[in-house]
Amino acid sequence: MVRGPVALVTTTAAILLVLWSLPRLSQPTAAWTAWPGEPQFSARGAWAHAETLATRFPRRWSGSPDRQAAADWIATTLESWGLDVHRSRFEVALGERHPTTLENIWAISPGTDRADEIIVALGNYDMAPTSVQAASDTAGHVGTILELARVLHGSPHRRTILFLFPDGEEWGMLGARHFAQTFPDRHHIVAAVSIEDLDASAIAALGIDGIGQFRGFAPMWLRTLAADAARREDLPTAEVTPPFEWLQRSVLVSFTDQGPFLTAGIPAIDLGGRTADRATQNRIYHLPEDTMDKMRPQSMEIYGRTQERILRAIDAAPEVPIEDTAYLRIAPGCAVTRATLLAVQIAVFAPLVLSILDRQRRTPLGLSARDESIRLGAVLAVMGGGFAVLKILPRLGLMADFALYPPPPRHPLLTEVNWTAVTLVLLAVCAFGWTARRVTRRLAPGAVAMEPDAAVTVLLGWLLGVAALALIDNPFGAVTFLIFPALLWVWITPARSSGRRAANAVLIAAGFVALIALVVSYGQRLRVGLYIGWYLFMSVAYGQISLLRVLMTLVLVAVAVRLASHTVVRTA
Ligand SMILES: [Zn+2]
Repeated sequence: MVRGPVALVTTTAAILLVLWSLPRLSQPTAAWTAWPGEPQFSARGAWAHAETLATRFPRRWSGSPDRQAAADWIATTLESWGLDVHRSRFEVALGERHPTTLENIWAISPGTDRADEIIVALGNYDMAPTSVQAASDTAGHVGTILELARVLHGSPHRRTILFLFPDGEEWGMLGARHFAQTFPDRHHIVAAVSIEDLDASAIAALGIDGIGQFRGFAPMWLRTLAADAARREDLPTAEVTPPFEWLQRSVLVSFTDQGPFLTAGIPAIDLGGRTADRATQNRIYHLPEDTMDKMRPQSMEIYGRTQERILRAIDAAPEVPIEDTAYLRIAPGCAVTRATLLAVQIAVFAPLVLSILDRQRRTPLGLSARDESIRLGAVLAVMGGGFAVLKILPRLGLMADFALYPPPPRHPLLTEVNWTAVTLVLLAVCAFGWTARRVTRRLAPGAVAMEPDAAVTVLLGWLLGVAALALIDNPFGAVTFLIFPALLWVWITPARSSGRRAANAVLIAAGFVALIALVVSYGQRLRVGLYIGWYLFMSVAYGQISLLRVLMTLVLVAVAVRLASHTVVRTA
């Protein structure tokens, strides 16, 4: 009897030790140096473009007349420098009665000897509808990219450089997504550099964001190159810590335009200008106070020169590499590689496998496998029914419809709960619950005689199934969201004593610690606080959370509910 628990404790301890010492398993990565010459970027030029955009088109959110006028102005400006300008319009749902027309603008500066390889420099020109001017959250970077286009087009370069100004960034990077999915020469893009969000006030660091939209991450070479470019301008790099990068890789919801390019398998990165005055930036973010008077030409100068060094370095590279993006950066120039990570990520579930084998040996499953799975399926069907109703509500006009993400931070709809929609989903869950109860009574009448030990084994088997799917979908997320259930639920044992039942309840609840902590911190990041529940409701409705991830979460919750019914709730 002792063999089981001892083996569990040792493997769990071993896994935690390996996770803790993961940094020791890192390896050096390839060195990249930025272009060492003297940048031609002019802060005066960039400032003039930014000021024109901010003051002449101060309300250029997606679907507005200012947005259209801004597009005309950007296109005319690029044409006046001799670039080959293109525009593309497409329609999306943005919460209005009728679809909203979005418009991407791009300008091509052909390369000399490697013209078939395209480098994309991009940054959105739309803005949050809660802002006016949107100086730091978009005019600053649009001015910078326009100036880069003027300067780079004015001197020969080997590869073709494409300057892209996507629309609809605030609603889920819709313009960049459309471009990355439909641009005819997209397979010729060798790298995409998102130049987005030059904060107000003095620049303190180059912010690096490598999050892909549901898939992918910035390759290490682009991060190394960006850091070297920043260093040449005496600018530190703001990289996330390895544990935080692990969390970013677990969630994979991008908030800048590199996201959709990474999804398409294109090496991409976002390079923001982080301010020294975070209080001011926080205060003006997405609000009418985000105006040009808070911007600094000196910050634009450093920001633009850094970007020019990066773009010129990519252009000068003999080959632009396609690197594996499943790694974990530990420090400058070193990372843990995919194979090592995957071995550790799979090993996290070893105690769960051990526990299932051990329990099965002690209590044969018999008919429990079938009966318990039917009951689990019933709980799942009930929640699945609620999910299905939620998905069709926007189509039925009972909930505002958005193409992909809920509205951007500080949008009023984020704190205006649509109680009709919420009530309809709850009613659906109740109705499905009532039906499911009747059906399972008929299908699995042996429930009374079901052996609780065997039922727990079956449920842990289902948890293992979810873990396997999650490892295939996103190994980082599999560990983040399932490590607590996988390591804690193996200690659940059915017993009649109230102490044991209380312990089981704690173990089951603790399985959701990571999920809840992440949701709460996400709410803070999006500035919605406890309205994060409503935000997630919308995320699921609009597809910001994939069907597979919703399904895996529902199975996890269903397993918890069934575990509780066997090991927490008092049975007669
Ligand atoms: Zn924004």
